[in-house]
Amino acid sequence: MKAVRWHGVHDVRVDDVAKPEIIDPEDAILRVTTAAICGSDLHLYHGKVPKLRPGTTIGHEFVGVVDAVGPGVRSVEPGQRYVASMATACGRCSACIAGTHMGCGRYALFGYGDLFGGLDGGQAEYVRVPIADVTLSPISDGLSDEQAIFVGDILSTAYTSCDEIGLEHGDIAVVVGAGPVGQLAVQCAQLSTPSAVYVVDLVEERLQQAAATGAVPINAAESDPRKRLLELTGGRRADVVIEAVGNAKSLETAWKLAGTSGRIALAGFLVDEPFPDSAGRTWLRNLTVRTIVGQPIKYRDRLTRLIEAGKLAPEGIITDRVPIDGAVDAYKRLDRREIVKVVMSF
Ligand SMILES: [Zn+2]
Ligand SMILES: [Zn+2]
Repeated sequence: MKAVRWHGVHDVRVDDVAKPEIIDPEDAILRVTTAAICGSDLHLYHGKVPKLRPGTTIGHEFVGVVDAVGPGVRSVEPGQRYVASMATACGRCSACIAGTHMGCGRYALFGYGDLFGGLDGGQAEYVRVPIADVTLSPISDGLSDEQAIFVGDILSTAYTSCDEIGLEHGDIAVVVGAGPVGQLAVQCAQLSTPSAVYVVDLVEERLQQAAATGAVPINAAESDPRKRLLELTGGRRADVVIEAVGNAKSLETAWKLAGTSGRIALAGFLVDEPFPDSAGRTWLRNLTVRTIVGQPIKYRDRLTRLIEAGKLAPEGIITDRVPIDGAVDAYKRLDRREIVKVVMSF
């Protein structure tokens, strides 16, 4: 079967590999029908993720049809469609019951190397899914693969940001970054009916894409985002800032745009970036800063209902569709920021 594997910095390849097999009674084998490249996969691409073995199959956003299940699987059925959570968890320990799956002893991220559990990922024709009853969520007939896929990762990240940072009715919300997570954060933020959602980016097409779903665009290449926000709000700064890029510059922007007692959700995948201000000044401004890890297992049912009800349309962020043989080129174009979100079909 074909699989997208990491071999080194800027070196991903479509390889022919053996089909995975059930090795634990709770496993399922999923025949992948659609997979996406996540912005965080670019960290792998750049070699910034430690303990990643060359030859690891990557990808943690995927949907498919179950091909086979182990004897310990109770609810997942062969022949049915499912969306995978980006990470597995046991579903039974105290961390899982509390909805904080990252604290589960069996938490493991698909396709992210040994530091994150060493699972092969889903940018492949087949993938082994541990703890299938918890990791997989059924997709109703009314939803397409493209509507369902982001429930397993970036839509959950966007929604978790709004929920955990306590975005409320009437708040001024700012999303920093109009990439995939930023676009979805704009959609999720509006569920809380803030007074406005502003979105900051450097790329006009991305801003217009976010504006089409209700955000007020601020082009940071054209004006200082802080000055522009003050103009647009009549002198107010943000109650809530969702940082959805994950680099030093966007952190700095987030800190500048938050008002006194503002709340900042760090949804970007931050590899070794320094904080943009001192602890003392952050304290003096009474800022709340919260790191966000998306919680698909906790929120996926709610998000699926919102998609079915037409209140979220996550598939609108997809800009490119390629067959698996186009994966190498898709990574290159994503790295050059020529495309926003790409899905592979099988
Ligand atoms: Zn991801
Ligand atoms: Zn657990």
